[in-house]
Amino acid sequence: MRIASVLLPMPLPEAFDYAEPEGMDLHVGDQVAAPLGPRLIRGVVTALRDGTGGNRPLKPIDRKIDDPPLPASTLAFVEWAARYAAEGPGQPLAMALRGLRAPRPKPERIVVATGAAPARMTPAREKVLQVVADQALPPPRLAEAAGVSSGVIKGLINEGCLAIEERLAERVAQTLDVSPRGDRLNPGQAASAEALNARLDAGGFSATLLDGVTGSGKTEVYLEAAAHALSLDPQAQVLILLPEIALTQAVIARVADRFGAAPGEWHSAVDPPRRRALWEDVAAGRTRIVVGARSALFLPFRKLALIVVDEEHDSSFKQEEGFIYQGRDLAVARAHLEGCSVVLASATPSLETLWNARQGRYNWLKLSARHGVATLPDVALIDLRQTPPERDHWLSPPLVAAMAQTLARGEQTLLFLNRRGYAPVVLCKACGERLTAPDTDSWLVEHRYTGRLVCHLTGFSMPKPDRCPHCGAKDSLISIGPGVERVEEEARERFPEARIAVFSSDTVSSGQSARELVEAMERGEIDILVATQAAAKGHNFPGLTLVGVVDADLGLRGGDLRAGERTFQLLAQAGGRAGRADRPGRVLMQTWAPDHPVMQALAAGDRDGFVETEMELRQLSGLPPFGRLAAVILSGPDPVQLEAFARELAAAAPNAEGVEIFGPADAPLSLIRGRRRKRLLVRADRTVDLSAYMAAWRARVKPRGALRLTIDIDPYSFL
Ligand code: ADP
Repeated sequence: MRIASVLLPMPLPEAFDYAEPEGMDLHVGDQVAAPLGPRLIRGVVTALRDGTGGNRPLKPIDRKIDDPPLPASTLAFVEWAARYAAEGPGQPLAMALRGLRAPRPKPERIVVATGAAPARMTPAREKVLQVVADQALPPPRLAEAAGVSSGVIKGLINEGCLAIEERLAERVAQTLDVSPRGDRLNPGQAASAEALNARLDAGGFSATLLDGVTGSGKTEVYLEAAAHALSLDPQAQVLILLPEIALTQAVIARVADRFGAAPGEWHSAVDPPRRRALWEDVAAGRTRIVVGARSALFLPFRKLALIVVDEEHDSSFKQEEGFIYQGRDLAVARAHLEGCSVVLASATPSLETLWNARQGRYNWLKLSARHGVATLPDVALIDLRQTPPERDHWLSPPLVAAMAQTLARGEQTLLFLNRRGYAPVVLCKACGERLTAPDTDSWLVEHRYTGRLVCHLTGFSMPKPDRCPHCGAKDSLISIGPGVERVEEEARERFPEARIAVFSSDTVSSGQSARELVEAMERGEIDILVATQAAAKGHNFPGLTLVGVVDADLGLRGGDLRAGERTFQLLAQAGGRAGRADRPGRVLMQTWAPDHPVMQALAAGDRDGFVETEMELRQLSGLPPFGRLAAVILSGPDPVQLEAFARELAAAAPNAEGVEIFGPADAPLSLIRGRRRKRLLVRADRTVDLSAYMAAWRARVKPRGALRLTIDIDPYSFL
């Protein structure tokens, strides 16, 4: 008998053993239905060995599932990701199987020829038989293709010349035009593309930072490398990762244009049947180029040749819920496991990546000028202490004047504010209470389009009440501060004739709506776009010449480890949307702290100076990239029990050289959905295997009852 270890896509510490039933002939990677308690669960065979299972008989596997097996390299990646995250492998496996949630597609009824000739041939019958010889189609589509009535087809079926069969619609492989287009590239781009191609020719793992100013043509360069990778091997596959769905749409269009076929598309807005189809196509090698969000890393690629992480600095690559991981880091790990190339592209690379490039671990390619006649925009700070906006307004006189000039020239403005909704805080002027979500200590955000108060943390929402829920005073609620909807209101008030739109995850919820808004902006049908970060990155809007940053200080207020870095990146990116075509652009940043080093660096366009200062600070305190961090988040409904568990956990920390532990302390968000939260922060020297340390620590304690323990390796959120 053989014993099969089956990994189940659930938070379990390891794979379970089952008996392989006689004649099932399993292989590693096969998907099976395995019993767990009263249920049957889809799992993946990770190992097979001879044995009997000892004195306790093993439960047999129920059946093999007729879905493609998980490739060995995907399985290895799942196991690697689990070790890195100090988690069991079930959670990353769930990510890898996510595409299979939709049922298998149903077979279609299609018409096939039987070979029998009709007793009487007519031109209509002849046409039908011709079409059938070429293609198997469902009856209505056959009638349409042959240009005949359904009666003709019925007649041929009755005579036995045609028959109906049930069949899965045939899925065809992408045919891509991978011929080189290097002659399109300017000399700087061509040099970068050649360097990437040389790495691809050499084969094996390589990591490259493609470091180019906004608009320098990084996309052109990596698409050229993608074409090269695909041309080297007819089986090769390429994955392009992007941080935002809105951006995926733009890159999908460029890929379709470059390769003459649409790439596979993978992100949360793709519906389950299409996800399943893509999963199967990737596993079968029919899909050779995929554009997607971070979770596309877990797709069952057969032969990855290149992974591109575009806007690699973007914190959206960090997944904060469920299985917690940093997509950029896992992309490098996957490339390493696959023995392929990875390209990290950005105009404002993360400190981690710059550090790796400086150490020589990554190749470093630079593009220092915009393509063609486009030049980098002028950046100026607006000192709000000198020229504040009017009361209850948010746009200062210099910004309004610049918008008026831009409008008069028929050019476009982007107003950037990284805050959804109308107002971030709603306050009762009678009792002073700020409205929060129930059992959660985060403020409710007013959304005027929907007339609701929304908690951005938990998704809770309620209609805006006309009385204060605390003191009952009528009409006493006032909205404090601006979100994009409020800035839009002000823009309309000031420029009633302008065409204005809002781009945020509330107004753009699907790939389709993102595409429509982006295209309208590209065609110049919008004069003023008020946008959160969803629209501030990556796009090319040729008529956009003015970027106004409404609140440049916003990101600095949280004050976490990466606040400065993130603010610099976000504002440089947002500013980088201006003047990308033939007309010069400018960026105006409204700030209360024009002397802050981040504002000074932005105004001077001094990225390297900023990076230098920031690196020194990080080095002094041993923070990433000079040290490693991990967070432990504990939560539970009962504060006393939670406190006791936090103390027990702290006491159980393994002793290790080069590890410091801070906390436990109440988390800044100390109450979410009725659960209290505490945090610990672990800092370790780079020589410490922090994942292994955290896993060892976790193994020493067991959260009881409703208590939860989450480990976040390399945290980006400290809330
Ligand atoms: P990045 O990704 O660095 O921001 P893009 O690749 O989006 O830059 O290029 C910016 C703009 O310049 C795009 O509209 C792109 O089509 C155009 N562009 C860049 N390089 C070339 C080139 N060699 N030939 C023609 N157009 C180019």
